[in-house]
Amino acid sequence: MNITAVYPGSFDPITFGHIDIIQRLEPLFANLIVLVANSPNKHYVFKAEERAQLIRENCQLKAKTQVEVSTGLTVDFARARGASVIVRGLRAIADFEYETAIANVNARLDPRIETMIVFTRPEYSYISSKIVKEVAYYGGDLNDLVPESVAQALRAKISEVPNVI
Ligand code: ADP
Repeated sequence: MNITAVYPGSFDPITFGHIDIIQRLEPLFANLIVLVANSPNKHYVFKAEERAQLIRENCQLKAKTQVEVSTGLTVDFARARGASVIVRGLRAIADFEYETAIANVNARLDPRIETMIVFTRPEYSYISSKIVKEVAYYGGDLNDLVPESVAQALRAKISEVPNVI
């Protein structure tokens, strides 16, 4: 089957947990779109294009994988691109309620688009972009959390705009 999947998220910034999911998805789908959400109601540390660029630079993506930015609903984006699957990652039970709500809303908006959940590998289950930003803010070691270029970009952002986080 020739299935296109969308993996949406804030990716503010991309972490080793996200990278692991992307690498595991690539062999499963004919096409993969990593969708960088740009919600006008959310505060991000990195601009959408910066978040997309950090993904492109750090994932060694295959040619069939695209990174795109969108401000609208994920289901609308998926439909417009002919994608029939939305993939989300699940780290722990704490993610479950939120992910269930999103999946149910998306199913109501377009029942033809299926949400699939990929379970995080245990070694990445404690990593979140939020934790990465907090560790960076207090000058902690980011080695096990994000690639070096992401750590550098984050440190640069914090020194340019100290209250960015
Ligand atoms: P959002 O704001 O949409 O939750 P995130 O960038 O935080 O965006 O996460 C995007 C997706 O990646 C979500 O499905 C999330 O559960 C998943 N994810 C986040 N961190 C990890 C991780 N460490 N391992 C696996 N999946 C993760």
